[in-house]
Amino acid sequence: MKTLEQIGNELVGYDPLALNADLVGNFLDQLVEPVTETEDVGIFAALGRVLAADIISPVSVPPHDNSAMDGYTFDGAQLRPGSALTLKVVGTALAGKGWGGVVSAGECVRIMTGAIMPTGLNTVVPQELVTIADDWVTVPANILKPGDNRRFQGEDLMRGQPALQKGELLTPAALGLVASLGIKTVPVLRRLKVAYFSTGDEILSLGEPPREGAVYDSNRYTVFGLLTRLGCEVIDLGVVRDQSEALEAAFVQAALQADAIITSGGVSVGEADYTKAMMKKLGDVAFWKIAMRPGRPMAVGHISREKLASSPYIASASSYIHNSKQAQHTHDNGSTSTTGNAVLFGLPGNPVAVMVTFLAFVRPALLRMMGCTASAPPLLKAQTTEAIRKKPGRTEYQRGVVSTAADGTLQVKSTGNQGSGVLSSMVQANGLIVLHHAQGNVAVGDAVDVMMFNGVI
Ligand code: AMP
Ligand code: MG
Repeated sequence: MKTLEQIGNELVGYDPLALNADLVGNFLDQLVEPVTETEDVGIFAALGRVLAADIISPVSVPPHDNSAMDGYTFDGAQLRPGSALTLKVVGTALAGKGWGGVVSAGECVRIMTGAIMPTGLNTVVPQELVTIADDWVTVPANILKPGDNRRFQGEDLMRGQPALQKGELLTPAALGLVASLGIKTVPVLRRLKVAYFSTGDEILSLGEPPREGAVYDSNRYTVFGLLTRLGCEVIDLGVVRDQSEALEAAFVQAALQADAIITSGGVSVGEADYTKAMMKKLGDVAFWKIAMRPGRPMAVGHISREKLASSPYIASASSYIHNSKQAQHTHDNGSTSTTGNAVLFGLPGNPVAVMVTFLAFVRPALLRMMGCTASAPPLLKAQTTEAIRKKPGRTEYQRGVVSTAADGTLQVKSTGNQGSGVLSSMVQANGLIVLHHAQGNVAVGDAVDVMMFNGVI
């Protein structure tokens, strides 16, 4: 595992105090590693999990050449350009009940969609195209080529080929594909454990009476939702006071149980230094100022096992943590144990900044930790319906509502107030307008990139 210093030194243009948002993903890619422990689960339990090994198809799908149409099947070699072809019907092939007879030249078999092609036959004429007289059908001239309307054995999947690959996220379509092969259980990577807590003395937990200057903790719930949608196991540690002992206990407890720790608040300049000081004390952590809006400050790194070992909270934390990572790792088949070495994402406190930094940086890093190899969904292009002021030199993520314009193209409108505390803008929006680092002002009708939420939020 590389240290933060090594990663930073190797990254061209890395400046932690004015960090180009485009470099963050690259940095985090090197900071995090995929989990290695696997388990076998039934198909129903596999939804949203990451496949731990290729699924090799034990069968061909479809298992036989079959008809794509209801019609008549015959040997297509008899077709002559410019001539109709009249054939005698000698039998019927149904789906699930084939026809085993021998078919000679000048003969055909009535066939249903999905029925196995009788031996020696390769062409199907749809029933609506023929004329029928008693046991005879006539195929009009020039409407078919040999091989038409036949589905090949294995055209969906060929036996022995990978049907799904290691690292794929198991979607509803993937579950169906697994089932189509007759497979009941699949190997998946273990779920990622992510601990989360909010920091700040002004943050109220639900149930506490309101008090002047204090706000209810919303980040706890947005982060819970984002992590749950991602398929992570969430370890919710609530609100932690700006106080060394409480923070140390929370970090120790989180690091012993989780692969990753997400905090919100306490990392901006001018904060009481407790959160930052504790991150420094227990880990190898970089404090970034990212050239972006919203979400400038962010801390990333590792809580280190060595530093954790000397914490007075380790004994008390271990005693009440069940099913901890330590327990997990006794089943670990030789992979590098990360016990106590949790990855840390210290997010800013502002509710929109939390969501944006999560979507832009934390989510892709967590997917990598989950072992998922899928590339990020592409940004879409939409025409902005209003001018947007934008300074070059920082990346901006504006909340937008994307819709279809009268001409069928995509258009996007900002949700209005883009303040980093305006959480209602995230509720109204269906995507983020991504204004890139070097980009300047945007005029009405310009195409901008949008990152759609698509069920992620
Ligand atoms: P900070 O990054 O700690 O300076 O916080 C920035 C702003 O976000 C402040 O107005 C905080 O009150 C607010 N904030 C911090 N944490 C939370 C939270 N968990 N829920 C709602 N608002 C928060
Ligand atoms: Mg604060």
